[in-house]
Amino acid sequence: MKKIGLFGGTFNPIHNGHLNLLRQVQAEMQFDELLLIPSHIPPHKAASDLASGNDRLEMLRLAIEDMPEAGVCDIELHNSGKSYTIDTLKKLRQIFPTADFYFIVGTDMLLTFDEWKQWREILKLTYLVASGRDEGEYERLLEKAQKLNKDRIIVLHTQPFPLSSTQIRQKVKAGEDVSQLLPPKVLRYIKQKGLYR
Ligand code: ATP
Repeated sequence: MKKIGLFGGTFNPIHNGHLNLLRQVQAEMQFDELLLIPSHIPPHKAASDLASGNDRLEMLRLAIEDMPEAGVCDIELHNSGKSYTIDTLKKLRQIFPTADFYFIVGTDMLLTFDEWKQWREILKLTYLVASGRDEGEYERLLEKAQKLNKDRIIVLHTQPFPLSSTQIRQKVKAGEDVSQLLPPKVLRYIKQKGLYR
């Protein structure tokens, strides 16, 4: 059976925290395909914080150029409003009728997973693969997975790279150096397009 890893987020922008997670999850899970799925951002967000869907998609493409199994998936960007994961999974199931799905999440996402729309249905359509964003989160993740569904939630003990897109946007705005926090091509794109200033 084909194994497909799915990684959703706003990716505003993608950063080395995301990529560190992806590389370690991929090393462990050996997915045949890995799809990055940027979500729609509502237009009421502050203008300086907003990169368009196309810009976020392009930065994702640049970031995964050296990961042959990875690709970008724009299905949530076509929707005018918020996409729920359950609906995205149903669409993906039509495109890949027989694959096993593994939805990758960081700590914040697993800890609030039981607030997601139809989370029990989500777990019928996909496994969840959870990993920490910071040191010392592994036990909490395990405990949450046990509580929600230990058969469908896989917790990996990865080496964390604590970082958020919010920090990147703040640093770019302040003119600080972010060259260690993003792939060089993504940084070049942000500069060329004047994003987050
Ligand atoms: P923002 O600061 O704009 O809220 P973010 O950095 O949290 O953004 P998202 O695009 O919202 O990034 O996150 C997408 C997914 O990546 C989520 O599952 C999140 O938990 C995970 N993630 C984000 N940053 C990291 C990190 N440094 N390490 C591991 N996982 C991460």
